[in-house]
Amino acid sequence: MTRVFNFSPGPATLPEPVLRKAAEEMLDWHGSGMSVMEMSHRGKEFMSIFAETEATLRELLAIPSGYKVLFMQGGAIGENAIVPMNLIGATGRADYALTGDWSKKSYKEAKNFGQANVAATAEGAKFTAIPKQSEWKLDPGAAYVHICSNETIGGAQFHWTPDTGKVPLVADMSSDILSRPIDVSKYGLIYAGAQKNMGPSGLTVVIVREDLLGHALPITPSAFNYKVQGDNDSMYNTPPTYAIYIMGLVLHHVKQMGGMKAVHEHNLAKARILYDFLDSSSFYRNPIAKEDRSIMNVPFWLKDAALDEAFLKGAQQRGMIQLKGHRSVGGMRASIYNAMPIEGVQALVKYMKEFEIQHG
Ligand code: PMP
Repeated sequence: MTRVFNFSPGPATLPEPVLRKAAEEMLDWHGSGMSVMEMSHRGKEFMSIFAETEATLRELLAIPSGYKVLFMQGGAIGENAIVPMNLIGATGRADYALTGDWSKKSYKEAKNFGQANVAATAEGAKFTAIPKQSEWKLDPGAAYVHICSNETIGGAQFHWTPDTGKVPLVADMSSDILSRPIDVSKYGLIYAGAQKNMGPSGLTVVIVREDLLGHALPITPSAFNYKVQGDNDSMYNTPPTYAIYIMGLVLHHVKQMGGMKAVHEHNLAKARILYDFLDSSSFYRNPIAKEDRSIMNVPFWLKDAALDEAFLKGAQQRGMIQLKGHRSVGGMRASIYNAMPIEGVQALVKYMKEFEIQHG
């Protein structure tokens, strides 16, 4: 068996020990005589998996009491609507910071549910930098302020937490949750699709401060009502059980790696290798302001786009896949989530050097 270095933005590479464990337990989980896929979500076996997954997430992210952890479906695009449906009703208005395609999408969706305002935007600079806090125009009467902590397509990431005063901060952390320590108490709500750093697609994690619950618009479907899901421990409808199980295995693996601080250091080391090389080369280019560069998604462009195809083909031949940039921006993108080993990044840089010598 040969495993590739998979630079996909998501669904993304998972830790090999997790996949091995899942394979080992596929037919018979812990002597239950069942696959996790076959278990009732209310049975004692799955309930124990569920409880341990939530407890490990709480431990790793140091989630304070007073926050609910919800296991939902619908993905982060679903949350773009579910967040305003649940929160905007408090005042009817919400602020959005636009730092790339994903936050822009969130903003557009929110407009369907109330008055969504742009508090800050980097669109004029083609999303190459995160707007400085001093440039933000925050509405003190907003129900929340929304950010995307890491723009998966553009490659800009918040390396600071905006100060929104008494207005709750909401963050789409789909592509950087579990990549570094965070202070959850600075957020009113955090949401993330699982398929980058946490597990397979189909599972969305929502971490929400309990005092924000109970303002859902009357049109909110009950399955997407945070209060209903919170009161029912995410079992109002059937949760994505197998995805939760895999997430539990991933969290256990992250814990074994030493927790968030160790994982963050590993991620910083990987990103440094790639950015240092990009900065040393005139053949490749990354346009993001240095202080705002993502340590998860590294977009880069070759000097001549006519070489893109040859670059991708050569990468594929060396067992490196999914390096093509998002169709909206072109170029290349290396997604280097937690589960990408440092050897993958080293192999990529080695290949990039060779390609540059050949074609530069
Ligand atoms: N937000 C961000 C930051 C993302 O990276 C993605 C997926 N790439 C989404 C939202 C959309 O997620 P989903 O497809 O799970 O709805």
